[in-house]
Amino acid sequence: MSSSNASSLGEPLSKQRRTKAKSKTARKSWGKGKRLGDGESVEDAASTPLSVNSEEDPKVAPRWVREVLAAKEKRRVERKKHEEIMKPIRKAEAALKKKLGRKLTNGEKNFIRLSHHHEELVNVWGDLQETVVPIKPVTMEAHPSLKIKLLPFQKESLYWMKEQEKGPWAGGMLADEMGMGKTIQTIALLLSEPRQKPSLVVAPVVALMQWKHEIEDNTDNFTVCVWHGQGRMKAAELKKYDVVLSSYGTLEASFRRQQRGFKRGNLMIKEKSPLHTFQWHRVILDEAHNIKERSTNAAKAAFALDAKYRWCLSGTPLQNRVGELYSLVRFLGADPFSHYFCKKCDCKSLHWQFKDKRHCDECGHKPMEHVCFWNTEILTPIARYGIEPGNPGHEAFKKLKILLDRMMLRRTKLERADDLGLPPRTIVVRRDYFSPEERELYMSLFTGAKRQFATYVDQGTVLNNYSNIFSLITRMRQMACHPDLVLKSKTSKLAQDVSEGVVCRICSDQAEDAIVSACKHVFDRECIKQYLEVQQLRGHKPECPVCHIEISIDLEAEAIDLTEGQGAKARQGILSRLNLDNWRSSTKLEALVEELQKLREQDSTIKSLVFSQFVSFLDLCAFRLQRAGFTICRLEGGMTPQQRDATIQHFMKNTNVSVFLISLKAGGVALNLTEASMVFMMDSWWNPSVEYQAMDRIHRLGQHRPVKVVKLVVQDSIEDQIVQLQSKKLAMTEAALSRDPDAALGKLTVEDLGFLFKM
Ligand SMILES: [Zn+2]
Ligand SMILES: [Zn+2]
Ligand SMILES: [Zn+2]
Ligand SMILES: [Zn+2]
Repeated sequence: MSSSNASSLGEPLSKQRRTKAKSKTARKSWGKGKRLGDGESVEDAASTPLSVNSEEDPKVAPRWVREVLAAKEKRRVERKKHEEIMKPIRKAEAALKKKLGRKLTNGEKNFIRLSHHHEELVNVWGDLQETVVPIKPVTMEAHPSLKIKLLPFQKESLYWMKEQEKGPWAGGMLADEMGMGKTIQTIALLLSEPRQKPSLVVAPVVALMQWKHEIEDNTDNFTVCVWHGQGRMKAAELKKYDVVLSSYGTLEASFRRQQRGFKRGNLMIKEKSPLHTFQWHRVILDEAHNIKERSTNAAKAAFALDAKYRWCLSGTPLQNRVGELYSLVRFLGADPFSHYFCKKCDCKSLHWQFKDKRHCDECGHKPMEHVCFWNTEILTPIARYGIEPGNPGHEAFKKLKILLDRMMLRRTKLERADDLGLPPRTIVVRRDYFSPEERELYMSLFTGAKRQFATYVDQGTVLNNYSNIFSLITRMRQMACHPDLVLKSKTSKLAQDVSEGVVCRICSDQAEDAIVSACKHVFDRECIKQYLEVQQLRGHKPECPVCHIEISIDLEAEAIDLTEGQGAKARQGILSRLNLDNWRSSTKLEALVEELQKLREQDSTIKSLVFSQFVSFLDLCAFRLQRAGFTICRLEGGMTPQQRDATIQHFMKNTNVSVFLISLKAGGVALNLTEASMVFMMDSWWNPSVEYQAMDRIHRLGQHRPVKVVKLVVQDSIEDQIVQLQSKKLAMTEAALSRDPDAALGKLTVEDLGFLFKM
């Protein structure tokens, strides 16, 4: 091959330089053309020795060799360029590593890279703290045209919302607990200024009519249009109303017809979405977690709305659902928290846009070079490391709090009990000690369990044996309630015998009333029932929560007993295995009897709820309390809705029924038992939210007596550890954000387990 051939390949060698190159050795000249094309100096490039052997022609290398060399050289130059860019980044990494005294997380590395190209991110959290002051809610009177009197905390939120609209996000999140009147607070906001048309409220279908009535009842001739279903109006007509109400489904469908079109005959037709054609005065998303999945069309349709002010309403404790918060932050358009950034250049975007799937539409860099600021700064560290102090997730949690303090207002019923007229609620712990006999039984169980746990720790197999450890803990908790729960249980004849328990695949707890599906998965009857009901409500085809095939399960089937290796076998109840003539009570059971007797003497009209996780223990409680002359009733798993309702009515309407025994699993939700004002928690759970949920059955609007909760704890048992763990977890969530402990925080870590076994 000749050199003229080489230049015809498109390598931009100037004639002068080619001459110069020829004067050097052939080997060196092979790679030079490419180097020069890259704009590097000859001297620099030539100093790199090359090691390709060409026997045939010492002057000019074959074409393939030149191509290989050129490619290699190109990579080298790019590497070098990259090294130059990376120098300050590496330096910053080393400095941070030294400061933290540990390896950096991906998030921390990302942040350094991002800061390099995006100056506004360098001190973004500090800037936020400096420039945006959290608004302290103070009382603001509602406009006189509001026909309902606001409660004090509702006047505060009115002020807060007005101020918030002047802030950087022109809106925010109102996240008061359920049932505190977020609708009326929003209406007060709508009335707070001269009429501005129109505002849009997006709500679940079931809430649309309620919104309509509340607006019509509480305002002076505000005009409301429900834009939902068939025969919808065009944009021009919508603009005539003060408030337009629509559902998430309608919003999504309308947007989809605009973006993707719809089929009419053989034609694809696109139709402008009336909701997306003009700027709304306010857009309010009620139950805003409906857009929690950022990639769904409903979320995209909400993001695409144009509004002067934006509001998210939600009663769920948003701050504990970091993953779901992104969509809300994104809806508010918070910059830079909802944006994607490129780690290699100053590319910044609200959208994830890679039309060819491989290169950014904006900057051409690969998808992996782009990070979502929210994910890398908040979501991933918390999800991966947890929020315990000292963890990288804790820093992210603090950042989240900085942001939410400036974006969200949340009050709870407990905090504003006075405003709501709710009576106070007190929680006391009653501590008792084992009898000598109970203690001996407990200690022999505990010693064996601790030895077993220590073996798992030594083998490093704690996590592999989670369900075994769970069995051990459950045994100890049962022993603290009543020895019979362990000694007379169906699954074991001896306290020391530890077998693999039957674990419900939904709640991961020891199954008490287990039934099995056709696909051979085991569930608590109550768990799978509730699961299926929810699926049905959402209109889903019921599938197995484990293997996701269509589920076939007989909800009325007799409970199984796996440990005896038999198929269907009815739950006999512990009483059938006891000799009731010489049966003995337990310390804890007698403590309950004592409390109830005291109460009966003081005020016989007070009704009590007794919660336990163990159905067998409720069997014993029922037996003992009836013997002590109490009229009781029970809510059990396995009841039909009719039976359930009849039992509740029986308790509420009959003054002589003073005690209601409820399985914690069966009675957690959708119970309104305001006739009772006392709660006894017979056994403690490390996630306090389970207990709060139980207490909320009676501490709600309609309750007029002070509510008292008594937690019964046996001092020298594992319960003491559990209560300590509980307050530790509660303190953590309270200190960090709020009073609503998340289920995820209820999960036990290896350290927690060690604490329970007093290791
Ligand atoms: Zn880029
Ligand atoms: Zn980009
Ligand atoms: Zn279960
Ligand atoms: Zn299954």
